Amino acid sequence: MNPYNNKISKREQRTRRVEDNVASRIDEVANCVHCDCDMVYPIDWEQAEGTLWRVTLRCPNCEDVSPGVMDEELIEKFDCLLDRGTDSLVRDLRNLTYANMATEINSFVGALDGGHILPEDF
Ligand SMILES: [Zn+2]
Repeated sequence: MNPYNNKISKREQRTRRVEDNVASRIDEVANCVHCDCDMVYPIDWEQAEGTLWRVTLRCPNCEDVSPGVMDEELIEKFDCLLDRGTDSLVRDLRNLTYANMATEINSFVGALDGGHILPEDF
């Protein structure tokens, strides 16, 4: 490993996964080893041995599906990261819904003001 760089290479990550198959850092499970997307999420999991969990991970960008093994501490960290991602998605959805409604209301008001909507339209 390069002592001057804290990030490990993708090749090293893959080799490490094959060698011991137990992830030790959150970026090993949250980032795709193929396309570097940081939105990898679990699609299946089962308890392995002791505190270890076998997790199937999916990348939404390149659709890679990879197995992973994590301990409970890393599962907790990954769960917190996924919760933050969910919160961000919900916030974006609310903002998009609000923007769409505002656009529709403005269009409706414009149509009313222009006399393009009549009582018989309802
Ligand atoms: Zn990917």
